[in-house]
Amino acid sequence: MKGVMKDTKFGSILQSEALTQYIQKTSAYPREHEQLKDLRNATVDKYKSRSLMNVPADEGQFISMLLKIMNAKTTIELGVFTGYSLLATALALEDDGQIIAIDPDREAYETGLPFIEKANMTHKIEFIQSDGMSVLKDLLSKGLEGTFDFAFVDADKPNYINYHEQLVKLVKVGGIIAYDNTLWSGMVAAEEDEIPVYMRSARGHIMTLNSFLAVDSRIELAHLSIGDGLTLCRRLTSSFP
Ligand code: SAH
Ligand code: CA
Repeated sequence: MKGVMKDTKFGSILQSEALTQYIQKTSAYPREHEQLKDLRNATVDKYKSRSLMNVPADEGQFISMLLKIMNAKTTIELGVFTGYSLLATALALEDDGQIIAIDPDREAYETGLPFIEKANMTHKIEFIQSDGMSVLKDLLSKGLEGTFDFAFVDADKPNYINYHEQLVKLVKVGGIIAYDNTLWSGMVAAEEDEIPVYMRSARGHIMTLNSFLAVDSRIELAHLSIGDGLTLCRRLTSSFP
């Protein structure tokens, strides 16, 4: 999606594309796991500019370190695509870690699967080919409220706000829900008439989410300018009114 916007002022949220590349080349790529590198390259080969949907390497490394600091064991991933963030998560968890990974697109998941297999990470992953909301509701009806350490949300943006209502119950008190693309190529700070018409609706959904999370007293929040914007929400309360 961002590939088509190269000639506009929107894209990387840093001050220049050169700075974005500097971070990747200097700090991130030299430490990128071999299978993550191969998965990213295979995604570029097959999906061309859509490969930009994979989280960038520096964001993958941030998520990995966060999971280790938290000592996360159980996670949910909404929006897998070819599995870059999924494999980064799997590599960060201990051997008994478990990820429930949800995406309606099995073909994209299977494009990345050989690299997940080569990295010996398949035993940590349960892939569910489905729409995210129905699985979250299933997890709650199975009594799994308050059991997950972490959730990474990188799926259909209009539904983030609906996912939040389910996820804030599914994660433990102290657990984290991370929402990706919350700065939307910088468009959240632009005037509506500067935005390509076909991007306005998605921008609106992200802005509504950002305003909603900013005043949600059930969570503590940190809005990070990494990747395309990543909002961390840490669950505070054990009971909701
Ligand atoms: N996290 C991935 C990129 C995800 S791209 C990575 O870093 O590699 C967004 C994905 O959301 C797409 O694969 C798309 O199929 C998926 N998606 C779209 N609608 C969805 C829904 N309703 N539920 C779950 N996933 C959805
Ligand atoms: Ca994303």
